[in-house]
Amino acid sequence: MSIENYEKFLEVITEDLEKIFDYQKEYICCKKGCSHCCKRGDYPMSELEFEYLMKGYNENNETVKKKINENIEIVKNGDTDSYPCPFLIDNSCSIYKYRPLVCRAFGVLTEDSKGNPSFPFCTTIGLNFSKIYDSEKKHLSSRLVKENNFKIFPRIFRLSNNVIMNLPLAKELNLNFGEAKKMIDFFE
Ligand code: SF4
Ligand code: SF4
Repeated sequence: MSIENYEKFLEVITEDLEKIFDYQKEYICCKKGCSHCCKRGDYPMSELEFEYLMKGYNENNETVKKKINENIEIVKNGDTDSYPCPFLIDNSCSIYKYRPLVCRAFGVLTEDSKGNPSFPFCTTIGLNFSKIYDSEKKHLSSRLVKENNFKIFPRIFRLSNNVIMNLPLAKELNLNFGEAKKMIDFFE
């Protein structure tokens, strides 16, 4: 029941996120095949998200599952704070439909714990929001927004896992997300 309700939750969240990405499309370079954001991170998620992700894992064929398992072992023996996602196979997400919330929301301008703009890391490699990023001051530049003739001023969205998991809809659907931890820690 929880997974069914989580799927209902995802339907709504996906629509909302699409609107957010669409609103800032002038600043966004995300496209199929771009996977820099899947190559370094710790991908925090809840137990419910992990359960859902494993549903996706089980839908893969044995060759892909074997590759994922090998990737998991490599990560476990390396840097478990920042690592390539084990589910990234041939530069593409092998569990895309089942990916966790952090992957769905990644790429937009969000808010850090102090309420300041927090850029996705790919800003610094010339991707999302890079045209309005002042790399010296490490801040959003209003001057660059004007100089580049962008039509809208970028908005900062509150899209942390915590914010998403505490949306009223999650309560309405009785979702129990359970404990949250780094993706790799679920494989201990
Ligand atoms: S968030 Fe950045 S790295 Fe990830 S797909 Fe979008 S442009 Fe590429
Ligand atoms: S789960 Fe998929 S989208 Fe998320 S980091 Fe891994 S490969 Fe990328």
